[in-house]
Amino acid sequence: MKKIILKAENTHSLNKEEIVDLLANGEINEDLFQTADRVRKKYVGDEVHLRALIEFSNICKRNCFYCGLRAGNKNVERYRLTPEQIVETAQMAAAQGYKTVVLQSGEDAYFTAEKLAEIIKQIKKTDVAVTLGVGEVTYEEYKILKEAGADRFLLRIETTDTNLYKKLHPGMSLENRKSCLYNLKKLGFETGTGCLVGLPEQTFESLADDILFFKELNADMIGIGPFIPHKDTPLGKDKAGDFILALKVMAITRLLLPYINIPATTAMETLVKNGRNIALQSGANVVMPNVTAFDFRKKYEIYPDKVSVDYSTLLDNLNSIGRTVSKSRGDSKNRRERYDSQ
Ligand code: SAM
Ligand code: SF4
Repeated sequence: MKKIILKAENTHSLNKEEIVDLLANGEINEDLFQTADRVRKKYVGDEVHLRALIEFSNICKRNCFYCGLRAGNKNVERYRLTPEQIVETAQMAAAQGYKTVVLQSGEDAYFTAEKLAEIIKQIKKTDVAVTLGVGEVTYEEYKILKEAGADRFLLRIETTDTNLYKKLHPGMSLENRKSCLYNLKKLGFETGTGCLVGLPEQTFESLADDILFFKELNADMIGIGPFIPHKDTPLGKDKAGDFILALKVMAITRLLLPYINIPATTAMETLVKNGRNIALQSGANVVMPNVTAFDFRKKYEIYPDKVSVDYSTLLDNLNSIGRTVSKSRGDSKNRRERYDSQ
């Protein structure tokens, strides 16, 4: 097992069988986490990049089985920020010192590409990177968003298991999800994806495929979230994903894609107290504090008891583990440098 970890650290490449072995073996966890921490330090350093998360609409036409925002959930009070509110929130975040704003929402048809483009153009008058997380649209629509100035896009593949994907995403397909990700790459977005860990019926093999897909796509950012059940969804009675397993998927991803940006996800901190710091010491180098106004934040209930952190607590936390906040935009280093040649 030690040999596999060493191989990953030195070559940034593993086959499916090796990844499955690592995921299935409980005895190598500490070694794996420490190695991922070392690789993180070597390739992306000790700085943590903060991304200001703006959850601007909880209206969604999709029905993902795990998500509290799914159209079929009638117990959500829906909201939509006005374009002015979105721009103001972004400007406030920039004034606070954030170098990136992330605009995230359900798939809300009100926000056409043209409408989003206007918002992006307004925000880009301030010197911040703009990341979008608004789901699946056509190549032409992604192009409008890119031309308006959007820099990055987050679209998790969720799972690369074709059957599981189909079961959990009515009316959607894994094929289209992948094609959206390749379109984003083609258009020059810094492209982020990721998966949920602990979905019912998910296997180590399918998680290994997820990790290999991240590598194949050569993603710039990877967000790994343990699945957390929401009572008003079809998976409401299923059990939550395992924190350690999610951490392992994240650590292996760091070994295979050493230059990318990896957030310590909110789902990790929600599931386990101190989960954010643990993730930051096992391969992660990004935190996405929520800057949405509190009244709306409560209503963006993807899963219950979603935690948020205030800025000064976060700074104390980062200091306590010897990490500092980056003053740069934290663009992906994966695009400029090649690790294959090392
Ligand atoms: N609608 C966009 C999309 O699906 O790409 C962006 C917003 S969506 C709420 C952002 C992410 O939340 C999804 O990619 C999914 O992985 C995550 N998510 C949804 N429900 C979740 C749950 N019950 N537990 C953990 N993560 C969840
Ligand atoms: Fe909508 Fe995204 Fe939730 Fe799916 S995961 S229901 S697309 S908000």
